[in-house]
Amino acid sequence: MKTRFYKNVRWLEPFFAKTKGLLPLHKVELVMGFQVPLDRCEIINGRCLKDDQGRCTITLRIMNQVWRVNMNSTFTGVKHTRRSIYSILCDFAHELAHVKHWDHTPEHWELECRITRRFISELKRREITNVDNWRRPK
Ligand SMILES: [Zn+2]
Repeated sequence: MKTRFYKNVRWLEPFFAKTKGLLPLHKVELVMGFQVPLDRCEIINGRCLKDDQGRCTITLRIMNQVWRVNMNSTFTGVKHTRRSIYSILCDFAHELAHVKHWDHTPEHWELECRITRRFISELKRREITNVDNWRRPK
C-alpha cells in the first residue's frame, strides 16, 4: 500500500522515499502534520501510532506556538510560527525509526541516525543549504 501524505507535509515524500531499505516503508500508512491550538499547551513534536497489524500513522508538528507571559505568571498563546525544515526532518527521522524499533533503544537511535544521513544526502543533492529555513523544499 502506498503511504499517504497530508498536503501540509507532502514535501517530505521524497525524503521518505530515500529511506528505502532501512525500514519497512509499506507499514507507514499515513504521515500528517499538525499544529496545537493556541489555547492548548502541548510540547509533543511528533508521534508514531501503531495499530494491531503494525500499520503506522506518523504525526509531525509543523507549527510552533509563540507565548506571552502574563503579569500573573500565566501564559497566553499569541501566534503560530512555522517550524524549520531541520526540526521537522529530525522529528520525522525519529518517528520513522519507531516503525522498525518501537522502543527507545540504541538500535532505534542508530536507525534514526541512518535515516537522518539519508535526509542530509537528499538536502545536499537538491542543494538545500539553509535548513533553518521555514520555506519548504519544492
Ligand atoms: Zn520516540
